[in-house]
Amino acid sequence: MELRAAATTDTGRVRTGNEDAFLIDARLGVYAVADGMGGHRAGEVASATALEALRAAVAGGARIDDAVERANAAVVDKAGRDPELRGMGTTITVLCTAGGDQLIGQVGDSRAYLLRAEELARLTEDHSLVEELVRDGRITPEQAQVHPQRSIITRALGIDDDVEVDLYRVRLRTGDRLLLCSDGLTSMVREPEIGRVLRREGDPRLAAEALVAAANEAGGEDNVTAVVVDVLDGAGDDDPDAPASEPVRATPTPVPAPEVEAPPAKERRGRRAGRALGRATRIFLVALPILLVFAIAIGAVGWYARKSYYVAFDGARVTVFQGRPGGVLGWGPTIAERSDVERATLTPQEALEVQNQPTFGSEAEALAYVRRLRARVNDRIAPPPAPPPAPPSVTTAAPATTVRPG
Ligand code: MN
Repeated sequence: MELRAAATTDTGRVRTGNEDAFLIDARLGVYAVADGMGGHRAGEVASATALEALRAAVAGGARIDDAVERANAAVVDKAGRDPELRGMGTTITVLCTAGGDQLIGQVGDSRAYLLRAEELARLTEDHSLVEELVRDGRITPEQAQVHPQRSIITRALGIDDDVEVDLYRVRLRTGDRLLLCSDGLTSMVREPEIGRVLRREGDPRLAAEALVAAANEAGGEDNVTAVVVDVLDGAGDDDPDAPASEPVRATPTPVPAPEVEAPPAKERRGRRAGRALGRATRIFLVALPILLVFAIAIGAVGWYARKSYYVAFDGARVTVFQGRPGGVLGWGPTIAERSDVERATLTPQEALEVQNQPTFGSEAEALAYVRRLRARVNDRIAPPPAPPPAPPSVTTAAPATTVRPG
């Protein structure tokens, strides 16, 4: 079987480092992409370590799923020995043609695609939160594409001693083109466009470069890697009816439960399911501190934006608003209480004061201000206190008195 492969990886337009890595070893017949994660340079170490160990395992005769398991062990081991690397992990998507087999191994949310007869087909399933949500029918694929948590993966190398590797058998034919890529491509460029680029660019290197360029033009929010493998002489030509690919072992990961259930309910589950859920939860937990930081930041802005009150005109009426004039980062003010004090009844000095939107630390203080304003208005429109009531025998016109309490 004769293949021709080329790859490009790029930092993208937003990140400062590139944690993606790829492997092309034509002699061994191994082609892979890995997308590392972890603080500082840990993600880079994770993806590079995984691909190195993968290559060594295949060179030693290991089947691809065993090789991916050894890659996992290498990342786990390295993370355990260096506190700076703790918590690092990586995805892996690998095509292996060693030993006459054509297998794809998959962990995480990097992907393999097959372009055959101008048609692009996705071969792998993501191990990601949004893919689980799509599978459960809770969101659409369109929503998944822009979901704020689309980068949370539910399986990765380096997290646990055990890793479940999805395995697919492919039957490559002459003229087929395979694409292995990181989510930096698929989160920025839609599949129809990926297909167009793969059909347009004949040379695998130009195709890989054009895909990376497309991701960058779309914003380049993540590291992006594309490995393009052309089949010059396929082995699957003899059986044209055989499916292009079929899963050998692909186990959907359960969605991490949004709320923790009571332990007794969980204990009755199968050991395997429990372990898979445990792993998924642990990977989810890796992402949790980051989510928490965001949640706290959003909460803090919201608290700051909403904790104060101010007084301003709403139309002609003096009104108490909760929030800050103009709002803060999308947290707009809302009306807390409308008063019956009209602008027309205020002195120019008072109107100017309200126009300046005085701010208060609590709703009670803001309301007290409005009460003082109303009292001054009432003082002005009320006539001086009425004289003591005249004796009943004397008839006088009833004075137009505004009765004020106290
Ligand atoms: Mn990525």
